[in-house]
Order: sequence, then C-alpha cells, then structure tokens
Amino acid sequence: MQVINSIEEMKQERKKLACTVGFVPTMGYLHRGHLTLVRRAKRDNDVAVVSIFVNPTQFGPGEDFATYPRDTERDLEMLEKEGVDFVFMPTPDDMYPDGYNTWVETFGITSKLEGEKRPGHFKGVTTIVNKLFNIVLPHKAYFGQKDAQQLRVIQKMVADLDMHVKIMPVATVRSRRGLAMSSRNNYLSKEEREAALVLYKALSTAEEMYMRGEQDVARIRVKITGIINQEPLAKIDYISIADADTLEELTYMDRSALISMAVRIGNTRLIDNRTIG
Ligand code: AMP
Repeated sequence: MQVINSIEEMKQERKKLACTVGFVPTMGYLHRGHLTLVRRAKRDNDVAVVSIFVNPTQFGPGEDFATYPRDTERDLEMLEKEGVDFVFMPTPDDMYPDGYNTWVETFGITSKLEGEKRPGHFKGVTTIVNKLFNIVLPHKAYFGQKDAQQLRVIQKMVADLDMHVKIMPVATVRSRRGLAMSSRNNYLSKEEREAALVLYKALSTAEEMYMRGEQDVARIRVKITGIINQEPLAKIDYISIADADTLEELTYMDRSALISMAVRIGNTRLIDNRTIG
C-alpha cells in the first residue's frame, strides 16, 4: 500500500496506471461502513484508491471541523489489511493554497434538508469531490446511502458536468442493533449511544406503517416524531418524507420516498434515512 501526501505525486502515480481504478473518498476515522465501500471498490476494479481528507470547506462556522475524530495510524492499518493500493492524504494547504478561489456548486436539491440546515456544506462537498476526481481520475467512485442527499448531489453534479466517473451507491452499514455506523458516533457516551437507536426505531416504524398500508405522510410523520420525542436525550433537527429522486416533500406515499432525519443526541448531530416503496 502506497501512502501519498502530495497532489502532484498522486497524479504521477495515476498516470502510470493502465487499468480500472476504484475510488473511495473519506474523512477518515474509518469504520465498517467505510470498509464496505473499500471492499466494493477492490472487488470491481484492478486498483483501489482511498482518500482521507477532513475537508474544511464543507464545515460551517460552529460545526465540528476542529474536533472531528482523527486517527491516521489506525486508518492506515485498516486499509492495509483490506489490500488497498493507494491512500491519498493531502494537506488542507495543498488542496486550498493561498488565493484558492474556484467552487463547484449544484443548485436545487442542495437547498433542502442538510443543505438548508448547513448552508455552504454541499458547495464544499461538490468542490472537494471534483478536485479529488480530477486528481485520482477514477472509473468508479463509491458513496454511502447513509448520506443519501450527498449521494444525489454527487450524481447530479456528475451528470450535469458530463464527468466520466461512474457513481456507485452502497447501502448503509449498521451496528447489530441498527445504529448507522458514523465517525461521529465516537462523540456519543454509552447512554447517548443507547438513545441514538431511536433514529433506527423511527425509520423502522415508518416502514412498518407503510407496509401495513399507511400512505398518509402526515400520520407517519406524527408517529415517528412522537417516537423520537419520547427519548429525552434526542432533539429533532428535521424529519423529511420526500420524493426519493427530487427530495420534494410528499403528502401522500404514492411513489418511492426517502425518509430522512437529523437528530441531535446530546451535542452530537446524527443523520439517518431509509428509502421506502
Ligand atoms: P465520511 O468519512 O463520513 O465522509 O464518509 C465517507 C463515505 O463513506 C461517504 O460516501 C459515506 O456516505 C460513506 N459512509 C459513511 N458511513 C457509512 C455507513 N454506515 N454505511 C455506508 N456508507 C457509509
């Protein structure tokens, strides 16, 4: 496994590769969710590249950029075990040198949900993913359904800009009891980790209601809002029941729906989602 810190060196190594390249962009502090993406990249391609970069431009003021969990040594050990070929770990100064002033922005679907609650977040995401794609030139890039809106934003960017990369969605990986794996779970105390199961419980209940024939979005919303509010450590940021493609809010479950939510458990903001129908 080759660990590369400079953009120039990554470009040089990429030039030497005359085979298929699978790419997994991450912010590190890796867990089983990330490793599932990595295994998929390994399986589908001749060479697997993983990037680790906590991207400052996708964090808003007052968000957790400074405290975001980092453990490079552990990450590299995990990636080595998976048989990853290249780990690309640029520095913020290399990615955004003095005078950096070019941004890639997708409009429309970025104005809802996470985009509405975290202004500028997706502009940071699309910009860094674009830069990473330009450096790594992957054939396929792997993204988790865990960040369902991000996945859609990236798919839209790739389609709108006629990019060559193929975006490969990967289902959310969960703990045995249903908590979606996330680097931010590291912030949770034992008690909070227990409380965080409420997101899974709410999503499962919504799906059960739908399976039993409930199609009224308002009734589903009331039910899952109640479930989360019963948990004293949980505070709802938003709950959305939206068209799975356009992310427009639904009133009736007459098409494929993305149920997504952001909930604070203590000081930690968690997101989760499920596609239904
Ligand atoms: P992050 O390091 O949080 O930026 O995540 C890097 C990639 O891993 C993104 O495409 C995420 O959607 C994906 N990912 C994070 N958590 C999970 C999970 N529990 N299951 C599947 N993919 C995940």
